[in-house]
Amino acid sequence: MKRRPPAMPHAVTREDAGLRLSWAPDGHEAFYPARELRLACRCAACVEEMSGRPLLDPGSVPADVRPLPVALVGGYGLRIRWSDGHDTGIYTFEQLLAACPCDACTGAAE
Ligand SMILES: [Zn+2]
Ligand SMILES: [Zn+2]
Repeated sequence: MKRRPPAMPHAVTREDAGLRLSWAPDGHEAFYPARELRLACRCAACVEEMSGRPLLDPGSVPADVRPLPVALVGGYGLRIRWSDGHDTGIYTFEQLLAACPCDACTGAAE
């Protein structure tokens, strides 16, 4: 039985425009635009737990929303505090890796 080791970024860089993550061990790098990431929040305030219905009104998220300090959560994800005051969202590495926009992950040809 083969089991993939849990994905872990070896570097997390916070920028006003978004978050840059370098993934271990293969070192691909992903940039997550701030607003997109904010809209992808899956916390109970943004997504209805039972139905998965989105509760977040995209219009309520400022176009220039910025990530504030980012904290590691139990080695499986990131908790991001946002400039719009939202701080209950946890982004699992699994979720982030699945959304990795780099060429290797999206299979984009050069
Ligand atoms: Zn949320
Ligand atoms: Zn990637």
